[in-house]
Amino acid sequence: MTTSTSALDSNAAFAARLPSVERILADTSCTALIEKYGRTQTLAAVRALLAELREEIAGPRTTETPPIAVIDEITALNAVIAERLATAAISPLKQVFNLTGTVLHTSLGRAILPDVAICGVVDALRAPMNLEFDLATGKRGDRDDLVEDLLCELTGAEAATVVNNNAAAVLLMLSALASRREVIVSRGELVEIGGGFRIPDIMMRAGAKLREVGTTNRTHLSDYADAIGPRTALLMKVHCSNYVIQGFTTSVEVDQLARLGKIHNAPTVVDLGSGTLVDLSQYGLPCETTVRQTIEAGADLVTFSGDKLLGGPQAGLIVGRADLIKKIKRHPLKRALRVGKLTLAALAPVLGLYRSPEFLPQQLTTLRLLTRPQAEIRAQAEILTPLLQQALGDRYVVAAEPLFSQIGSGALPVDLLPSYGFSVRVSRSHPARPRGKSGLSQLEKWLRELPRPVIGRIANDTLWLDLRCLESADEAQFTAQLMAPLREPITTVTP
Ligand SMILES: *Cc1c(COP(=O)(O)O)cnc(C)c1O
Repeated sequence: MTTSTSALDSNAAFAARLPSVERILADTSCTALIEKYGRTQTLAAVRALLAELREEIAGPRTTETPPIAVIDEITALNAVIAERLATAAISPLKQVFNLTGTVLHTSLGRAILPDVAICGVVDALRAPMNLEFDLATGKRGDRDDLVEDLLCELTGAEAATVVNNNAAAVLLMLSALASRREVIVSRGELVEIGGGFRIPDIMMRAGAKLREVGTTNRTHLSDYADAIGPRTALLMKVHCSNYVIQGFTTSVEVDQLARLGKIHNAPTVVDLGSGTLVDLSQYGLPCETTVRQTIEAGADLVTFSGDKLLGGPQAGLIVGRADLIKKIKRHPLKRALRVGKLTLAALAPVLGLYRSPEFLPQQLTTLRLLTRPQAEIRAQAEILTPLLQQALGDRYVVAAEPLFSQIGSGALPVDLLPSYGFSVRVSRSHPARPRGKSGLSQLEKWLRELPRPVIGRIANDTLWLDLRCLESADEAQFTAQLMAPLREPITTVTP
């Protein structure tokens, strides 16, 4: 593209009209910014904006208008800078409303923690803690001690250790106990969890050799027995967290496998994945084998996550035989994968809640969300429907509808919880309705750009917003931001 002489002339004229850095900084509109954000950051923002404007002016243009109508108005420039500095000051990690219907949503940070854990973390942030200091003896302590007794009490295990997440727990366990030896796993349990955790890969990283046995749908005890040899380090079972194998199937239970392992002196280890500490059926939820049941069945070690069904912070827990835990704790990877004090400050009080299982459905946030009765969610949906309809305008049609929530994070993948929420569809009759798919994605984007973004899910030309995870404490904030008078109406979003 060639630039005409007159355009070049006007480019030069615009460039000449750009104020200098000094004039911008000296303007009263900038003083407040310097006070709030400091001179270093403000100066950098001013320079960046001027550089952008210069580049824009120098670039090819077809019209005679300046790139930004206000290039020589210092107050206007400072308004842009103020907005940029304010945006930069906000944490990129924001609270959102999880209306996806998936309670333990990995992309949204999984378990929401109960107040006891929040207080624990705040305390740990504010002051030094006895993280690795034994207050009884005045000697150096071990950070695992802060939760080990409780984990043993709750699971019936002899010993326990904690690492950064369950993937780390499995990696550490295999590295410490099966390096350069074989681990026997059923072909039906070669799981891939989202985010790149695959049993065969983790096995390789740990320096262990995966010995697959059986078939995808059927594995018998004799398959394991035939594979046991002098190189066998472990017999391993992995929870099929995110899939089910149905039909003509058979698999070996932990108790049978553990008996076989004992005969051959090969520990049986179980990656339970989500891992629950209580029988969930007592709260009306689908049944899931507990960690205690797995230990009682004879598993020598069990690994599970802290932030799935347990409802705590991200962590990986390993419980089981004392001699094996000791070996694991001595492995150099344990140091690399250890948890920080914030994790322990949250984990210990969450585990403490399990001592009173009768209060759990109220006190443990994850369980409270999972057990919210459909009737309660329905009543909430019916009250909020007119508000949402008003906020979205008549180009969209909002209805309260029954839905199914998922537990999420690979916990009980096929079990659904009856719930309630909104369906939002593009109006078929409105003359200025947004057309086709873009109507829904505009809406989805608008919700994502709210001060506290609202995350739903689109399926069948409908946006679904499940209210299971909108507890009454957050409802006021949810409605207030929808009804905010200054909010740009959704219909102004250009397709
Ligand atoms: C979720 C899961 C993992 C990974 O746990 P993280 O805590 O996410 O690291 C490992 N194994 C199984 C079976 C799982 O379900």
